[in-house]
Amino acid sequence: MYKPLKPILEIQELDIKMIRLIRLRKQRQTELDQLHKITEELTAQQSEKESQIAEMTQSIQNDEEKIELLTKKIKDLESKQSSIKKIEEFNAMTQEMTATEREKKSLEQNVSNQTDERSAEEEVLEKIKQSLKASQESGVELEKEISASITEINGEGAKLKEQRDAILSQTDPEVMAIYERLLKNKRDRVIVPIENRYCSGCHIALTPQHENMVRKGESLVFCEHCSRIHYMHEEQAPDEDGAAPTRRRRRRVNV
Ligand SMILES: [Zn+2]
Repeated sequence: MYKPLKPILEIQELDIKMIRLIRLRKQRQTELDQLHKITEELTAQQSEKESQIAEMTQSIQNDEEKIELLTKKIKDLESKQSSIKKIEEFNAMTQEMTATEREKKSLEQNVSNQTDERSAEEEVLEKIKQSLKASQESGVELEKEISASITEINGEGAKLKEQRDAILSQTDPEVMAIYERLLKNKRDRVIVPIENRYCSGCHIALTPQHENMVRKGESLVFCEHCSRIHYMHEEQAPDEDGAAPTRRRRRRVNV
């Protein structure tokens, strides 16, 4: 294997773990944000529903006040009518009473309809309140759990960074820079083995010449399809000193 790749392969494993951690943390943060959003939406729905119900109550009260006035008016008309002698005036008063009675009935119908509508809205409000309570309760638990998990992720991340820093001093800066640029671009392993003459990054077949170049391990060899850096597993490539494959296998970095 091209020597400068060895320490970077170790770094790559740490970086992949770090990428996973960052993804996981983002995912957990998204869960938390979603939960906050649901709670916010429910709170907004609750206050909207409450003001709608308050408006309905106000309108019902207005109608009830009008009904009271009309009831009083009808009573007044009744008491006046009893002392009236002229038939025309009596009839006119009867007509006025009938009209007032009709107006009162219509208002009473209105009040009854509005009261039904308000009951329905109150049921909706109750449901919103229950959902909000449930979301707040589960929110407290989930928030605790997510915060703990994020703290754990950060701790693991710090450990990975420490291990990485320790290896970094052994790397060739130029090769390291190439590796980092590729990693930034792919967010996945960018130093990959050739397996059965296929790039294990993009799974496209490679030429024997390409494989030979990689096997020689004299320079960086890039996949011509996906730009990843290739290497051979060492046990597949016994070199001139013919060192024992078992010893080499143990040192192989798992991919
Ligand atoms: Zn490839």
